[in-house]
Amino acid sequence: MEPRTGGEDYPQWLVGVHPEDRERVDEATRSALKTGEMESEFRAVWPDGQVHWLHARGKVYYEHEKPHRMVRIVRDITAQKVAEQALADSEARKSAILHASLDAVLVMDSEGLLQEFNPAAEQIFGYEHHQAIGQSLGDLIVPPRLREAHKRGLQRYLASGEAKFLGQRIEIQAMHVDGTEFPVELAILRVPVQGAPIFAGYVRDITERKHSEDALRRSNEELGEFAHVVSHDLQTPLRTVRSYTQLLAKQYQGRLDAEADEFISHVLSGTRLMQTLIKGLLQYAIAGEDAPREPVHLSELVRNVVGALAAPIEETGARILYDDLPTVSANPLQMQQLFQNLIGNAIKYRRPQVVPEIRIHSEFRRNRWLLSLADNAEGIPAQHRERVFAPLSRLHGQDVPGTGLGLAVCKKIVERLGGRIWVESEYGRGSTFHFSLPAAS
Ligand code: ADP
Repeated sequence: MEPRTGGEDYPQWLVGVHPEDRERVDEATRSALKTGEMESEFRAVWPDGQVHWLHARGKVYYEHEKPHRMVRIVRDITAQKVAEQALADSEARKSAILHASLDAVLVMDSEGLLQEFNPAAEQIFGYEHHQAIGQSLGDLIVPPRLREAHKRGLQRYLASGEAKFLGQRIEIQAMHVDGTEFPVELAILRVPVQGAPIFAGYVRDITERKHSEDALRRSNEELGEFAHVVSHDLQTPLRTVRSYTQLLAKQYQGRLDAEADEFISHVLSGTRLMQTLIKGLLQYAIAGEDAPREPVHLSELVRNVVGALAAPIEETGARILYDDLPTVSANPLQMQQLFQNLIGNAIKYRRPQVVPEIRIHSEFRRNRWLLSLADNAEGIPAQHRERVFAPLSRLHGQDVPGTGLGLAVCKKIVERLGGRIWVESEYGRGSTFHFSLPAAS
C-alpha cells in the first residue's frame, strides 16, 4: 500500500484495524495525544477480508496547545512479517530438533569455532552451552594427540575441498571436560550456506555399545575355546566306546542272543549320532569366530557344493538352478557350509514323489547382496519359522537324520557378516530362505 496520510474520521479508521489489535492501537493513539507521536505495528482487515500487517507512524499537530490533528504514515509490512514469521518458525523447528536430539549436535565454522552446542552435547562432553560457543572444537573435545590431525583435515578441506570424513560415519575417540577419552560415532556434514563453509557434526557416545561388543566378543571367544576343548575331550572317549562296540558287533554277532545284537546296534547308532552332534557343535562354535574374509565367487562356490552333495542329488534327481551369482566378501569355508546346509536341507526335507528343485537368486540392495534359496520341499509351519534357526531345534524325529544345528550355524555365519537370515514358507509347498551378505569391494 502506498504511504498515505490519515485524513478520515478516527472511529471509522479504527474499525479497519483487526479486532484483536484494535484496543492496543487505540491506546497508542490516545497516549500520542499526550506525547505528540506514535509508532505501532498492527493488523488491518482489508475490505476483501484479507489481513495485512501495517506499520504506522503518527505525529500530532497542536493548535493553541491542544491536539488539533494527527498525521499518520502507514506502510504495508505484510511481506516482511510473513518472512519474519517463516524465519521464526524455522528457528523454532531447528531449536526443537536440536533440543530433542539424543545425539550431540555441534556446528563449527571454517575456523573450527563452535556455533552450536545442543543439550545432548552438554551432557556427553560436560561443557555448558555458554562455555562451548565460540571455543575451538578441536581444543574442547578432540584428545590432544588427535588435535593436529583434526586441524590439518580442516585446513586441507578449506584449501582443496578434499575431505575424507564428510558424509561418512566414523568411530573415533573424543574427550570429556574432565580429560577422559571415550569412543564416539561421528558423522560430519557441510551445512549448505553461502560463503565460508560451516560444518555440522552429529556425535553419539558409544561407550556402552563398545563395552557390550567387547564383552560379547570375549564371551564368544571363550565359548569357542570351550567348545573346542569339550568336543575334543568328548570325541576321544566316544571313539573308544564306538570302536569297542564295533568290535563287539563284529566278533560276537550271532554268538549272543538276538536281543543283545539289537542292543549293540542301538549303542552303535547312538554313538554315531553323538559324533555328528559333537561335530555340529564344533561347527556352531567356529561359526561365531571371526574368520578371515576374501572375495568369494558364489557361482563357483555353489558348483562345489553341488559336487559335495553329489550322492543325495543323484539319488533324488534334484535340480539346482541359479543365475549368475555375485562375488561376496566372506570366508569361503563358511560360505560352503551355509550353502551346503541350505541345499542339503532342501533335499533332505523333500516331499514324497516330488523331485527336489532349488532356485538360487541374488539381488543387490544398497551395499549388500540379498540371496534367496527357494525349494519345493515340505515347507515349515508358520509357528516354527523362527524356532528352526535356534541351536538343536528340529521339527523332525530321528527318522530323518539331523542334529538341529544346521540352520543355527547358517544364522551365526550370516550374522557374523552383519547380515540377517529368515525364511518364508508355504507349508506343504516349499520354503524360501533369504539372507544378506556383504558385497566384495
Ligand atoms: P537338521 O536338518 O539337522 O534337523 P537344521 O537346523 O538344518 O537341522 O533344521 C532345523 C529344522 O528345520 C529341521 O529339523 C527341519 O524340520 C526344518 N527344516 C530345515 N530346512 C528345511 C527345508 N528346506 N524345508 C522344510 N523344513 C526344513
